[in-house]
Amino acid sequence: MVDRYQKLTASGPGALLARRLGLPRPEILERHRPGRPVLSGPVVVDGAGGGRLTGPLRELVAALPGASGGSSGSQDAPAALVFDATGIDGSGGLRALHDFFHPRIRSLAPCGRVVVLGTPPEAAGGVRQAAAQRALEGFVRSVGKELRRGATAHLLLVAPGAEDAVESTLRFALSARSAYVSGQVLRIGEPVAGGAAPADWERPLDGRTAVVTGAARGIGAVVARTLARDGATVVCLDVPGQGGELRELAGRIGGDALELDITADGAADDLAEHLGESRGGVDVVVHNAGITRDKTLGRMDAAKWDSVIAVNLTAVEHLTERLLEPRESGEPVLREGGRIVCTSSISGIAGNVGQTNYAASKAGLIGLVQALAPAVAGRGVTVNAVAPGFIETRMTAAVPLFVREAGRRMNSMKQGGQPVDVAEAVAYLASPGSGGVSGQVLRVCGQSLLGA
Ligand code: NAD
Repeated sequence: MVDRYQKLTASGPGALLARRLGLPRPEILERHRPGRPVLSGPVVVDGAGGGRLTGPLRELVAALPGASGGSSGSQDAPAALVFDATGIDGSGGLRALHDFFHPRIRSLAPCGRVVVLGTPPEAAGGVRQAAAQRALEGFVRSVGKELRRGATAHLLLVAPGAEDAVESTLRFALSARSAYVSGQVLRIGEPVAGGAAPADWERPLDGRTAVVTGAARGIGAVVARTLARDGATVVCLDVPGQGGELRELAGRIGGDALELDITADGAADDLAEHLGESRGGVDVVVHNAGITRDKTLGRMDAAKWDSVIAVNLTAVEHLTERLLEPRESGEPVLREGGRIVCTSSISGIAGNVGQTNYAASKAGLIGLVQALAPAVAGRGVTVNAVAPGFIETRMTAAVPLFVREAGRRMNSMKQGGQPVDVAEAVAYLASPGSGGVSGQVLRVCGQSLLGA
């Protein structure tokens, strides 16, 4: 879908006019292309004294493709500023954030990255340390709102003992894969069993099978393509009426097409049978299919309520339960080390007028993810959700113009996201290297003001 305003302000006269009138000028965001290095410029890494991650971070960043060490004397604008704040154990220590970022933040390159690492406050050793670590969240969210020209800010809270599980998340946060993710907090815990780093970070899903529901178009089609790019064989699922588009996509990415209404009687059995028989099981399940039937509550009939809950939440419950049930062999269809990614929405976090049904279903998914994650960790399975904000698809093209423009601009990036932004977040969560990330909701919303 085309954002005409962004196109206009990217041109010379349009940019001048926007500057004169003080209007937002959305940056053309850099996005990942195969072969593109994680970083394209110098990175400055530092930490408050005593931080447990400063040393490992320096080593990790130095080994990333495209990274070069940035020193205070370097002339090049830094591509990223990385700060280990785990050593901050009281409010006085927060001054280290100012000392590090104040002299550097204005020289950050366009589409640059700010990454702060801390300790989950609940794992801190005392009240003062917990307060200081919680303070990082306010800091990073504010930095995200201040940054311009497509730059983003991330806070990674690393549990003690999870130091070796940081790489997958750090790569995502630093790279163009997280172009439309900003002001978010990601928690990294000790990885679930078998959560090892992939042999090839460009093809982390080599040899794995994935299923994507609602894959015929929009976000789901791009998720399917992105998982295939990362090496997966993808089963593309959508309702029977979408067969043509589905088969074309599956053919292009070397996967299967499965025409199935996920709300139909026996759908969970049919899916389990298909995945079990044709593929011997599945490693990645992406619950993407979703519908809206918007009306304010007083005008919403029961059919609109029921259909949205059925597709967006009940079907996800049924499919997930079935894929986790042991088969005759004793092994469930979802293999050990599996990854489940649900598609929530910022509506499920913030609520939205006309979307009581939709927001309830999307908030329900967050509950599902949080409750299921600890229950399946023993099998090396992670369960997470992405929560897209305003993404340019057919779903949002149908939104009335004024609401659509508000949705596009009311975020730190001043633009809507692309389906690929959600797909990259799904791919990161689906990676075998992301075993330390479970039970979480990753917003892909350009730091939308809604639910912030
Ligand atoms: P879309 O309408 O373009 O695509 C949804 C797909 O799901 C369609 O191909 C549809 O046929 C399929 N589907 C619907 N019901 C199904 C069923 N019963 N069985 C099987 N397939 C079914 O939507 P989209 O914009 O690509 O959204 C994808 C997901 O992202 C949805 O869950 C949506 O709620 C969520 N989301 C989208 C946005 C956005 O801005 N577009 C924002 C937040 C969340």
